[in-house]
Amino acid sequence: MVTPVADSVDIASLPLPELTAFVAGLGEKPFRAKQLFKWLHQRGATSFDEMTDLSKALRERLKAEARLVTVEKDLEQRSVDGTIKYRFKTHDGKLIESVYMPSPDRKTLCVSTQVGCAMGCKFCATATLGLQRHLTPSEIVAQVHAVNREVRANEKLEKLRPLTNLVFMGMGEPLHNFENLKVALGLLQSEDGHQFSARHITVSTVGLVPMIERFAAETDVKLAISLNASNDETRDRIMPVNKRWKIADLMNAVRNFPMKYGRRVTFEYVLMSGVNDSDENAGELAELLRGLPVKVNLIQYNENPGLGFNSTQDNRAATFQKLLEQAEVPAFIRANRGRDIAAACGQLANVVKQEGVTAP
Ligand code: SF4
Repeated sequence: MVTPVADSVDIASLPLPELTAFVAGLGEKPFRAKQLFKWLHQRGATSFDEMTDLSKALRERLKAEARLVTVEKDLEQRSVDGTIKYRFKTHDGKLIESVYMPSPDRKTLCVSTQVGCAMGCKFCATATLGLQRHLTPSEIVAQVHAVNREVRANEKLEKLRPLTNLVFMGMGEPLHNFENLKVALGLLQSEDGHQFSARHITVSTVGLVPMIERFAAETDVKLAISLNASNDETRDRIMPVNKRWKIADLMNAVRNFPMKYGRRVTFEYVLMSGVNDSDENAGELAELLRGLPVKVNLIQYNENPGLGFNSTQDNRAATFQKLLEQAEVPAFIRANRGRDIAAACGQLANVVKQEGVTAP
């Protein structure tokens, strides 16, 4: 792993035009920038020495002028359902988690965008870490390349980039780190990079309303709203963000979201026993969503010791789903991946905390 030089250029965070300008500054032709970009974002290179079609002199120059930010695998945990949770260490010793969820038709990675989180959702383990810092575009993208390498090796695949889908639902609130997220999405979607299609990327937010407008205008990937309550009273209690932007503000932003060309909004609703899972709650939720081209993912809460919330039982979840469907709101009970290894929704950070190695 290259040790980053603090004031050098974070080269894997640069979109191709900026990289081209940087390379021009070194006296090199534009096609060198494309070669370099492909090494970084198609092959997921972790050192300049790997870039064998660049001259030795240029590689040495890059080592002196730029840093290649990667993340280092620190821990891996495997679930009985095939989910693998990776804990990565950043160059400054921070710990982040990414969750690989294979299924017969796709290989999905849940990506983190921040170290910890500032949003303070009462039911979430990540919230207990607070926000330590934003991840850079290179650190966001590095999780994807690191897991590609793992999947290639574990599953003995020839394919360079086996991951097919990304969900930004790991540690952090992606829209709180929007500038870096936007750059990372550009790198991941680039023709000269990973080539993810917009249809295969979903970003989840708790509802930073002004940022949803920017997200709609400046990206083309899918949006998920982590709603988790059917009225303001409950949402105020479990999600502090609701004190700033009410459910009505959020619904206005969703109504204005450009849902065309297959782009759509998913609502994530974590079912917690006695908190948000009554018949009345289902009715309120149906009222909010009726007629909108959206779907609801129902997730039975993954209990986190000490946070004081309990999971909804299977029969209650099934009734909740039925009530939504009767109101013609499409609703699905989502399989709870990686629950046994604390890799499921709202559980990231448990392992870090349990092992007492929380980053400073
Ligand atoms: S649920 Fe998401 S936004 Fe809320 S505290 Fe956890 S990581 Fe942050």
